[in-house]
Amino acid sequence: MIVGVLVEITNRNVDKIFDYKVSDNLVDDIKVGIRVSVPFGRMTLEGFVMEIKSSSELDDLKEVIDIVDKDVVLNDELLELGKIIRDKTLATLMSCYQTMLPKALKLKAKKNNTINIKYDTYYSLGTVEGKFNDNQLKIIDLVKEKGKVIRKELADISLSSVNTLVKKGVLIEEKIEHYRVDYKEESREIKKLTPDQESCVNSVINGTDKAYLLYGVTGSGKTEVYMEIIDHYLKKGKTSIVLVPEISLTPQMINRFQVRFGNKIAAIHSALSDGEKYDEWRRIYRGEASIVIGARSAIFAPLNNLGVIIVDEEHSDSYKQSDPSPRYSAKEIALIRGETNHAPVVFGSATPSLEAMARAKKGVFKLLELPNRINGKKLPEVEIVDMNKNLGKSKGYFSPSLIESISNCLKRNEQVILLLNRRGYASFVSCKNCGYTFKCPNCDITLTFHKSSNTLRCHYCGHGGKVYSKCPECGESSLSNLGVGTQKIEEELLKQFPTSKIVRMDFDTTSKKGMHEKIIESFKNHEYDILLGTQMVSKGLDFADVTLVGVINADTSLNIPDFRSSENTFSLLDQVAGRSGRSEKEGKVIIQTFNPEHYAIKLVRNHDYLAFYEEEMNIRRKLKYPPYYYLCNIRISGKDTNYLLNEANKIKRSLERNLTSTIILGPSNASIFKMNNTYRYNILLKYKQDDLLIPLLNKILEHYKTNSKVKIDIDFNPSQML
Ligand code: ADP
Ligand code: ZN
Repeated sequence: MIVGVLVEITNRNVDKIFDYKVSDNLVDDIKVGIRVSVPFGRMTLEGFVMEIKSSSELDDLKEVIDIVDKDVVLNDELLELGKIIRDKTLATLMSCYQTMLPKALKLKAKKNNTINIKYDTYYSLGTVEGKFNDNQLKIIDLVKEKGKVIRKELADISLSSVNTLVKKGVLIEEKIEHYRVDYKEESREIKKLTPDQESCVNSVINGTDKAYLLYGVTGSGKTEVYMEIIDHYLKKGKTSIVLVPEISLTPQMINRFQVRFGNKIAAIHSALSDGEKYDEWRRIYRGEASIVIGARSAIFAPLNNLGVIIVDEEHSDSYKQSDPSPRYSAKEIALIRGETNHAPVVFGSATPSLEAMARAKKGVFKLLELPNRINGKKLPEVEIVDMNKNLGKSKGYFSPSLIESISNCLKRNEQVILLLNRRGYASFVSCKNCGYTFKCPNCDITLTFHKSSNTLRCHYCGHGGKVYSKCPECGESSLSNLGVGTQKIEEELLKQFPTSKIVRMDFDTTSKKGMHEKIIESFKNHEYDILLGTQMVSKGLDFADVTLVGVINADTSLNIPDFRSSENTFSLLDQVAGRSGRSEKEGKVIIQTFNPEHYAIKLVRNHDYLAFYEEEMNIRRKLKYPPYYYLCNIRISGKDTNYLLNEANKIKRSLERNLTSTIILGPSNASIFKMNNTYRYNILLKYKQDDLLIPLLNKILEHYKTNSKVKIDIDFNPSQML
């Protein structure tokens, strides 16, 4: 027997299959998709068995050393999927497979901290013969009564007696796998769906479309719709994947699924240890869990018999992996797995990405709508506060209007969520007086501030200029690239409301394991009046007592140098607004901004997503951005800038010679130009369809794969270009 093995080195030079002989003692356990160890040069490496065959074109083959684990880690579907991802992202095949597996199953050269399976020791009765003392009799009676008893319970009587009984053959010892995560039984608390919800469910379970876009306002009951669809497939013996952004994978969310589906769920999130993740993976692999809830990488869950894939908050950029390679989109993979398994894919959002809504309007996705909140609850009233008019009047960062609303809310003993928008922080320059920011004349993108050279640059096209000392709009010398942190806001807040209880939720306060959960739980129990935080407070939270949401600075996300900044701002504001007034009491939202007339802010007032969509689509068409054009970023990095720029220009010329319909921009400095002592240039491609593109990019990768001075990274549909 001969096997083709893909070895663990993630290097383009060895990203191919090598043949090995299999010795007779291993033949029975060899399967496609298992891990083996093989000799490779002078090293011993792990690899995946990709194929089994009877002959090889090469003679003098080396032998497989051993089998790492008998279970298949990459089933047929995942093996095939890896190849598709390689072809779409141009990453190495090995990196595609490694990305699919939990850490415990990834191939690794160095076996330092291995992640083990945990076992519990149990005892059952063997042959009961002979004379026993009191403790021994107690133990025998207990085991007789219960059948199987865990070691700890018997050790409480007498561990030495247990050992003696095992030696005599009276007790039989057995090790049973123990999962580190455990789920309660479901309580089957099912809500009666509204007619709108019901019609969405029926469209999916009776429909023939491959993909659906569920566009439902915040609090319209999308999650209930997902659960009902999942239940339908569960009853048919089919499995489901639910993707959510990591930050909305809160205990609240997991709890809702667990209440309904009990231990049929497996929730994979970053708070799990590597061991726990490994256990969840095995439960899924063995068919013990049929509903997988997790962030991006859960799309690779080794489920058989997939019935449906749900992608919640589909507008979230967390579904795109930017680094490391493979730079895949979990949404795209959802569509591929959906197609392979004849399973519909449901994308849901209150603020769908432009790409998704454009597809829905074209009929590529079937559009499902939930235009109203549950129980006819109104969406919260939104007040937009023009901070230009509040200069001087504002107490620190708070407009009188926000102060008054907080004060009223606290008097009614209701709760407040405050968002400090930190996206794209401080890398741009703005005027503290009038809010003016510098934009690129070619790209309509905010220029990035480069501290080292004291310049402003567009990292799309390379346009650049010096930093002025005075604002060109209002003439004041109040240009600043400084921002403010949550801590500072908390201090200000305490000055205004000395008796209020405030809890902060940001990177600092949640970096310790379990803190995120704890903050949410204690806020829910009303141990605090005000939850102050970054983007973390904007998604997935459902607190009945929150009747005021305040956005301290709506503008920061508007100013990040990205063509998606308006879209991201609108969706952030509308999502965070959606946290207000979700239960009995009516909610209010206050948005503070220097750009009250900007459509991304103005249109939040009436939660007018569709108007935003139209307006933004116009801009995208004019400027040739997605969804009208696809983007592909080629990053060229290395230590020697002159050499690098020269090569980047060569690449550009080669692209220009060969591609006729593609727009080629750059090479320009990446917005973080120097990173870890490597310099980075970007070439940005905009195209509608270009059959020559992939073969040409492959050729470029091939050309540079042995050049240690140039590293090429390709990113299709980049979510950010740092
Ligand atoms: P979304 O995911 O669209 O934001 P949710 O599914 O979280 O909305 O629903 C909002 C609130 O309404 C939740 O508290 C949920 O339990 C409740 N809810 C949803 N559907 C129903 C229903 N059919 N009957 C009663 N309450 C519902
Ligand atoms: Zn530009």
